[in-house]
Amino acid sequence: MTELIKYTAAETAGAIARGEVSAVEVAQAHLDRIDAVDKKVNAFLHVDREGALAAARAVDAKRASGAELGPLAGVPLALKDVFTTEGMPTTCGSKILEGWVPPYDATLTRRLKDADVVILGKTNMDEFAMGSSTENSAYGPTGNPWDLTRIPGGSGGGSAAALAAFEAPLAIGTDTGGSIRQPGAVTGTVGVKPTYGSVSRYGLVAFSSSLDQGGPCARTVLDTALLHEAIAGHDPLDSTSIDAPVPDVVAAARTRDVRGMRIGVVKEFAGEGYQAGVMQRFEESVELLRELGAEVVEVSCPSFTLAMPAYYLIAPSEASSNLARFDAMRYGLRVGDDGTRSAEQVTALTREAGFGAEVKRRIILGTYALSSGYYDAYYGSAQKVRTLISRDFDAAFAGVDVLVSPTTPTTAFPIGERADDPMAMYLADLCTIPSNLAGNAAMSLPCGLAPEDNLPVGLQIIAPAMADDRLYRVGGAVEAALNDKWGHALLEEAPAL
Ligand code: GLN
Repeated sequence: MTELIKYTAAETAGAIARGEVSAVEVAQAHLDRIDAVDKKVNAFLHVDREGALAAARAVDAKRASGAELGPLAGVPLALKDVFTTEGMPTTCGSKILEGWVPPYDATLTRRLKDADVVILGKTNMDEFAMGSSTENSAYGPTGNPWDLTRIPGGSGGGSAAALAAFEAPLAIGTDTGGSIRQPGAVTGTVGVKPTYGSVSRYGLVAFSSSLDQGGPCARTVLDTALLHEAIAGHDPLDSTSIDAPVPDVVAAARTRDVRGMRIGVVKEFAGEGYQAGVMQRFEESVELLRELGAEVVEVSCPSFTLAMPAYYLIAPSEASSNLARFDAMRYGLRVGDDGTRSAEQVTALTREAGFGAEVKRRIILGTYALSSGYYDAYYGSAQKVRTLISRDFDAAFAGVDVLVSPTTPTTAFPIGERADDPMAMYLADLCTIPSNLAGNAAMSLPCGLAPEDNLPVGLQIIAPAMADDRLYRVGGAVEAALNDKWGHALLEEAPAL
């Protein structure tokens, strides 16, 4: 492994700005790493070698001209294949979008380019972001760099695996029910779901529009904050975008001081189904926060136990409407168009061939939940539960600054173990879903290895909407204290690929 791929994003940008290394050398080192390991990992669906090197050359030219470089200039990034990229394929992990090349950039893509971030390519994901293991990708599963026979989480398993395999120091994910945080947890990396509406959804292919949120992923809390700063902020092209200043997440990440903060442990996120080693590392983290000077209290959020069923009505309902656009006429795949069939028949044949089993399951579920006669009983009830969950959060945040829990109940499970059991798969998001339903902000960061299997455990931190800076303040302090204790960052323990 060359040293360059082990640098943090902050170190990389600093080295480029000081002229110690060129952006082209940095990009090349990561492309070489991808060539060396990605056949095994399968984190990338598309690698844009030429584009990455051209972007890196532009950064080097900018520096040579004496222009000031931004805080992430020249830093390589792995982009989840659910954001549109002008001239670069975008598949959402689905056969139905095979070969589709978008004519425009998502706002997030544009902001990355404006920040001189070097986009290496697009990462693997569960089809249309539906899943918790990346096994629902039409392009094969991604392996967890800690153990390639295990899942890297999902839906953004490709982005998280790219970080853990040192193929990129930065990545982008989307989180509808946990797809940034759960992959972060099981790969020993950091991931943040920002406040809903604070990162533009323009050009993010919609799964469940009222829940979907793009966000930053990295190997350190500070790098995650730098990326958060680059992508967040108001966008007139997204009608749900919040028009308010983004909290100073970078300053918060550097604070590393939780003295006087009040931290609530969510009582409901424990018990049956939670792996012993996950609970052990979680409880140690809570103890650590106490030692660092925070006040820890127990908090009860009784409606959280209803979050999963509510989510699995709301998300499929919205998906059934959003995915109607894949009609064989506008994008990607078209099957059976031999001149003898009607448009309806071609649409049906294309969807039959182009959508995978989980996507079909959700479209059927959502269509049913929204059908007249059932709408009130299913979708209507789920929306009421959503309100109860928001009220539980409001009550909790009246007494504490942040809430904490394990990110996901178990460490990475073996590929195949839950593939045919949707209910078991859905349980991976037990602790993450409430924040999507309420629209607040949440982070997962590594808090050690579970003793029984030596696999990473994630600590989840949840903050009120538009208080994303609190995640970074708490996360930065925990990370610094743990690295001190271990004498190195967790990923340095990752078995070499
Ligand atoms: N695993 C959840 C699902 O399958 C969440 C996915 C996501 O956050 N995109 O819907």
